[in-house]
Amino acid sequence: MAARPMPYLDDLNPAQREAVERLDGPVLMLAGAGTGKTKALTARIVHLLTTGRARPNEILSVTFTNKAAREMKLRVGRMLGQQIEGMPWLGTFHSICVKLLRRHAELVGLKSNFTILDTDDQIRLLKQLIRAADIDDKRWPARQLAGLIDNWKNRAWVPAKVPASEASAYNHRGTEFYDQYQTRLRELNACDFGDLLLHMVTIFQNHPDVLDQYQRWFRYILVDEYQDTNVAQYLWLRLLANTHKNICCVGDDDQSIYGWRGAEVGNILRFEKDFPGAHVVRLEQNYRSTEHILAAASGVIRGNEGRLGKELWTDAGGGEKVRLIGHWDGVDEARWTGEEIESLQKGTRGLRPHSLDDMAILVRASHQMRAFEDRFLTIGLPYRVIGGPRFYERLEIRDAMGYFRLVVSPDDDLAFERIVNTPKRGLGDKAQQVIQATAREFGVSLLDGARIAVDEGRIKGKGAGQLRHLCENLGRWREVMLGPVLRQGDVEPDDTDAVIDDEAPFVVGETRRGKPTVTHMELAGMILDESGYTGMWQADKTPEAPGRLENLKELVKALEQFENLQGFLEHVALIMDNESDEAGEKVSIMTLHAAKGLEFPCVFLPGWEDGLFPSQRSMDESGLKGLEEERRLAYVGITRAEELCTISFAGNRQVFGQWQSALPSRFIDELPEEHVDVLTPPGLYGGNYGAASPYGAGSGLETRAAEANVYNSPGWKRMQARSGQRPTSQPRESRTQVIDLTAVSAFEMGQRVFHQKFGYGDITGIEGDKLEIAFEKAGVKKVVARFVHADDD
Ligand code: ATP
Ligand code: MG
Repeated sequence: MAARPMPYLDDLNPAQREAVERLDGPVLMLAGAGTGKTKALTARIVHLLTTGRARPNEILSVTFTNKAAREMKLRVGRMLGQQIEGMPWLGTFHSICVKLLRRHAELVGLKSNFTILDTDDQIRLLKQLIRAADIDDKRWPARQLAGLIDNWKNRAWVPAKVPASEASAYNHRGTEFYDQYQTRLRELNACDFGDLLLHMVTIFQNHPDVLDQYQRWFRYILVDEYQDTNVAQYLWLRLLANTHKNICCVGDDDQSIYGWRGAEVGNILRFEKDFPGAHVVRLEQNYRSTEHILAAASGVIRGNEGRLGKELWTDAGGGEKVRLIGHWDGVDEARWTGEEIESLQKGTRGLRPHSLDDMAILVRASHQMRAFEDRFLTIGLPYRVIGGPRFYERLEIRDAMGYFRLVVSPDDDLAFERIVNTPKRGLGDKAQQVIQATAREFGVSLLDGARIAVDEGRIKGKGAGQLRHLCENLGRWREVMLGPVLRQGDVEPDDTDAVIDDEAPFVVGETRRGKPTVTHMELAGMILDESGYTGMWQADKTPEAPGRLENLKELVKALEQFENLQGFLEHVALIMDNESDEAGEKVSIMTLHAAKGLEFPCVFLPGWEDGLFPSQRSMDESGLKGLEEERRLAYVGITRAEELCTISFAGNRQVFGQWQSALPSRFIDELPEEHVDVLTPPGLYGGNYGAASPYGAGSGLETRAAEANVYNSPGWKRMQARSGQRPTSQPRESRTQVIDLTAVSAFEMGQRVFHQKFGYGDITGIEGDKLEIAFEKAGVKKVVARFVHADDD
């Protein structure tokens, strides 16, 4: 046979070539970010095809996302120099397992046309089971049970295999419900996401003939991002690879970031045990990033224990140092980032001009995206959100806005339909049809239709009471929004002089209103709480729930910039109208999790503050597991950058209309100083950013607060001291002020103190330069000691 040309091998270094050419037997490619693991894996597919070792449909190739699968197919085609006629088994675990399960559904009691339930359906089903068992699903929420079952499925435990140590789960009835749930799914000819893998593992385990068929069929197996596989996925792979052992897995223990979803980094670490004689390839040359970026990432990840410890090098040259910048608040962070992106487009400070496609903003939590989206919309900077809907398209945001819309415009029938049974109020299709019919009959809005239907007893059962309650609430919230009705002789709140004139004629039909007694932010919080909407997500134990709650807080925060609810709703309506899916250059915005495996010339990493990144949850946890996963996420973030990496943090973030100060992330401390440039935010000392201060321009407080919050942390000071950078625009005087820490030792536990913003309270904790104080009005907060005075001064 004439040798076929293999140009794709020329692009590889010797270690990569080795991984590509060693086609038989187990191969593990364990290497750091950007070392060309995915590239080598792709070349391996091409090599299998070119050498005629396998046909496209004999290669099982698993990627982490559908996007990655599409990209890999494209690249294989490009390397081959021809379109490939389909690689049917190149995809995610889920997409591959759906196909397999359709062929063998009957072996687990399903028909081949089974449906796949989404989370909502899953919860609804569990709720039915819970109610049927006479359990109070408020105390034992269905979502919690759903989370538990998912978790068990990730570990490949069918109901009978759940170990005794888990027996106490869900009020000691977890496994019983799990069993019932599986039965019910079978009756419905349905399965959930976790089942796709679990069923296939079960089939392979119980039907050796089927397993044998696929072991022969999938002659070569390749897996990308192996460090993030869970137990079920691992077992599935091991079963398939067991006879020929032609399995090539690539991954990086330092990039394992899905532990919270059941991924086991241990899978990659024990590959050599599972497949004795495995050939392990280590790659050390990074082709993605310049030296400073790589060194910064390595510096951070070094903080983790129990690593395999890989050193990376690059010949791409030093390049730009990682840039670090602190901002006054999240809004300033977004504003600066927008401006920076525009200057990068033009090419600044000797950097080449970049397309918007070259730039990405990678956030820790999806609620951070809103500030950027709002800013970019304002300045007309095109952007795309990858791996999730844009902020105002999110489920919880649309639900919340449904409530706001209905309070502002009680005739908004679409909003009514959206929220009437969210959270669940026992108002199913039938009840909703009655409401519709009543509204039509009387020619009124759905809300009024609902009121009539309730009054006339057209709706029966538990739903009736709940609907009445909802209608009353909506009426009451509207009253709160409009402000109190003023009658003759009333005194305007906050204005003792303005007694309503007894003589002044009231126009018939017009109601005079006083100032609302609560702000529209407070009203929004009230609506979300009293409607039970916040509670619904608080009771939700799925991994997405905390993110959704954060998004709701973020929504309330967004209101601050508007005069009232109506103004806000108009703003959003305009934004939504502006949307277009036009092609063209765009900045990408996504979470760090979604950025895995990707690369961009310029990367922005905002929100590096303790409590946000690392997340509060990881910091509260005992042990280091959570924190180490966050650190790996930081490593993933930095290593996405090819040429320019900018890390930022804000000294203040607003949560539920309340300003909270934040300390720069502990990960900032871990950045090696010689690879970091500290930038000065433009407005902090004398720019016009003070005008945006929540304390008001010229109050003098804005600068001090910003200094205290941003620069008063030990981490920042260490950074400043080490870097030797002295921002030129910063007056010496204020510099001294910054460094000058209030002596924390001046305070003691239990002492009564006064804080400029939160008022009186007692000290309940002292930590570094921060005090935890139980305020009389504002509750328990951590504040910077500088702003606290003993009660008597
Ligand atoms: P991650 O861990 O982030 O998934 P990775 O190890 O999969 O990274 P790749 O995405 O495969 O790395 O490669 C990183 C970059 O380096 C890509 O742009 C790729 O084209 C390039 N690259 C990889 N190997 C080589 C090589 N031998 N010569 C030149 N460029 C290479
Ligand atoms: Mg990769």
